[in-house]
Amino acid sequence: MMAIAEIIPVAKWLAKIKQRSDVNCRLCKKTLEQRSASTENLPEETCGHINSAFCNGMATTVTAAHHFIWRHLYASMQAAQTPTSKLRLVTPDKESNISMLWQEEEFEQICSRKLLTEKATDIEKAISMKEGERGRYDFDPTMFYENRFWNRTPDGTVINKNHRTLNILEFKWSSDRNEDFLRVKEDEANEQHKSIIEALKAAAPEWTFEQINFVEGRRGAVVEDDFYNELGKLNIQAGKQDKILLVHVQRICKPHDTVMRSYYQQIHGLSGVDATTSMENIGEQAYV
Ligand SMILES: [Zn+2]
Repeated sequence: MMAIAEIIPVAKWLAKIKQRSDVNCRLCKKTLEQRSASTENLPEETCGHINSAFCNGMATTVTAAHHFIWRHLYASMQAAQTPTSKLRLVTPDKESNISMLWQEEEFEQICSRKLLTEKATDIEKAISMKEGERGRYDFDPTMFYENRFWNRTPDGTVINKNHRTLNILEFKWSSDRNEDFLRVKEDEANEQHKSIIEALKAAAPEWTFEQINFVEGRRGAVVEDDFYNELGKLNIQAGKQDKILLVHVQRICKPHDTVMRSYYQQIHGLSGVDATTSMENIGEQAYV
């Protein structure tokens, strides 16, 4: 097991070593200014933040990186199904939200759209609203919860009509600087799709619904046992599992550089950059 400690000169860290006075995200600030939007309540510029789609400046790059890794893994899993497998991996080519899935007959057979709406709305009401959702709620409070449910977009959906099982798949490619990132991201993934699983369980008790998460670190941290376990659940041929893991790990590492390059380029593009944000000052240590 290899743990890597890397220092990225994000504002939060610079503030800690007294090189900056504020911790606000410079990329979010710049993007919001360009849109003439309010720059009040800026998020903190932490490693986690700049590595997430929540950062206005990094969202496009981070999302593209996520898709680059996940879509390849998904296609590999699709191609390596056991010959007798009755699983159908619903394609993630286009973003398939729950509403789009329920336009297909085989999903409608699990339970009707009407029944699912009914069950989901109650569950959604118990889930607190995120900061960015306030505007949509104010626009249409009566439809907000229903719409939020139907717009939920898992990374993948796997259906087996014969066994009456449906799996919701989520891929988290996360900053792995904190030791507990696996648990944090696993919880986050489950929370994200909790309403889908709970609403389906309430609407179609004769079916089995389970969420399967692939939680991995930015620099290639994959828990092998978990990975093989997930592949097993998805009927991946035993003889093909090692190859899938190998190719996948290689693929995980590639976009990390792209993401970091995008961050540094954008920071250097800002005026009045701190000397400490230059690439030469990045320390990197590896412990084996
Ligand atoms: Zn940001």
